[in-house]
Amino acid sequence: MTQKFAYLTIDDAPSPHMRQKVDFLLDKQIPAIFFCEGKKIEERPEPVIYAIQNGFVIGNHSYHHPAFSQLSLAECLVEIQQTDVIIEQIYQQAGIRLPVRYFRFPYGDKGGQVGNYPITDYHAEGSRRKHAIQQQLKDLGYRQPEFPNITYPYYREAGLLADADWYWTFDTFDWSVFSETPMYGITSLEAVYARIAEDKPEEARGLHFPHSEEIVLIHDHENSTEIFWPIVNRLVETGLQFKLPDELV
Ligand SMILES: [Zn+2]
Repeated sequence: MTQKFAYLTIDDAPSPHMRQKVDFLLDKQIPAIFFCEGKKIEERPEPVIYAIQNGFVIGNHSYHHPAFSQLSLAECLVEIQQTDVIIEQIYQQAGIRLPVRYFRFPYGDKGGQVGNYPITDYHAEGSRRKHAIQQQLKDLGYRQPEFPNITYPYYREAGLLADADWYWTFDTFDWSVFSETPMYGITSLEAVYARIAEDKPEEARGLHFPHSEEIVLIHDHENSTEIFWPIVNRLVETGLQFKLPDELV
């Protein structure tokens, strides 16, 4: 078993089951960052306040969860800023000072996918847009922690550690299990387990690779709550020890 540190990031919160997830993680002493959608926080603030008061970190995952490449730059800014205000307010309601500003793009779409270019390979217009949105984030105080122990060459070469937003090194594909458009045939918990067991560090399946920490992506979706518990348990059994970024400890 490879024991190593990892960061647990939970996207698309808050669902109606977020509070249960917080209790589960508390029981297991697993810290996590919930990347929340502004609109959902407005509709369901209680579990977000509960998470903050119990030491979890709330990040900004936009207001409506759009694909940023399909928005104008002005619309991108509204998505970020509206949610920024909501998160600031929810921390105030929780009676806790906002510790840091973290952002994750919906679908990992940094806004530069103009045309059929892969996520890390932009042409000129895409590159211009991507950098403009990165600047919007920086101007609002968003930044990624330093991750000196994320060592994957593909990740560094793509510039993912230099950006203001958080990306991920391992996607559990939990979202695919109950999706109408599953990817890579991942339609069962067993298929998620099989992905966790893979040993392909250069292809974003490196949980057994001892030389890099991981940023793990899982979701707070209502329809996949039943597989949230066993997936997190399996990640821990695999040897991941979850922690918060050093700047928060
Ligand atoms: Zn999302």
